[in-house]
Amino acid sequence: MTARLIKGKEIAGQIREEIKQRAERLKEKGITPGLVTILVGEDPASQSYVRAKQKTAHELGFYSVQETQPAEISEATLLELVRQYNDNEAIHGILVQLPLPKSIDENRVLYAIDPEKDVDGFHPVNVGRMVIGAPAFLPCTPYGIQQMLVRSGVETEGAEVVVVGRSNIVGKPIANILLQKANGANATVTVCHTRTRDMAAHTRRADVLIVAAGVPKAITAAMVKPGAVVIDVGVNEVGRTAEGKRKLVGDVDFESVKEVASAITPVPGGVGPMTITMLMLNTLEAAERRI
Ligand code: NAP
Repeated sequence: MTARLIKGKEIAGQIREEIKQRAERLKEKGITPGLVTILVGEDPASQSYVRAKQKTAHELGFYSVQETQPAEISEATLLELVRQYNDNEAIHGILVQLPLPKSIDENRVLYAIDPEKDVDGFHPVNVGRMVIGAPAFLPCTPYGIQQMLVRSGVETEGAEVVVVGRSNIVGKPIANILLQKANGANATVTVCHTRTRDMAAHTRRADVLIVAAGVPKAITAAMVKPGAVVIDVGVNEVGRTAEGKRKLVGDVDFESVKEVASAITPVPGGVGPMTITMLMLNTLEAAERRI
């Protein structure tokens, strides 16, 4: 069997079209969705992530502000900056690019963001709302995974979903989202991590296997049930091409697993493009709440 590809890039494109149209309608009512991305320091990876977010916001017709601060900024000054954006009526979403310099308490900064503007979904208020199934800004990568499943017709209701990884940004939230009593969820969820005994015994039971471990080829064909849907969240750099471009692979041994699975996400072009798109959707929804 050769698995069907779940193309995140295409699904993200559809959602972006919908966002554009909703943003147009909102503008007719006098509101332009506003996003600020706050970057501290000069980490090249963070710079490129923030550039991509700004570019997408711009393409969607959002009002977007890039706030770049030196790595030496004090925690107090950064907190004050966040508070200013909390009070800024033109800004509906605040994103602080992580990681922050070690001299700054990351949580203190994230917790200072107004939960109504927390479009990354990391504030404990939004995490709590997500867990109890109340309306919340969902963290962008897991929200994107759920949308990929829904929009590619993968049934999660009653399905055995196995998640590999328990980070606060991917593993724990996607497990929580998919076990909710809701459409696009209602799954029976198992979460594996480095202390899991016999991980393959779990992954082989999965109807839907979601892998976010950060380990290339952590999942091989022998660990996948025939016909399973495999979502590969991993992004691992494994060298450079002759032209100096980064060579990226996921956490799943794509070549062997695609012969066993019924559907699989590629890396790149799978989960990655969904993440920024969901940030834009959260920002749009934050703006829509103003009406
Ligand atoms: P993380 O914070 O490093 O967490 C990795 C998790 O995987 C941990 O819970 C760890 O278990 C578990 N793990 C690691 N090796 C394992 C193994 N051999 N067997 C079982 N569990 C294992 O990583 P993350 O932030 O969740 O990211 C995971 C991957 O997704 C990375 O490659 C990252 O680049 C990628 N990612 C992609 C996107 C996107 O937009 N496409 C977004 C976010 C992350 P312990 O808790 O026991 O240590």
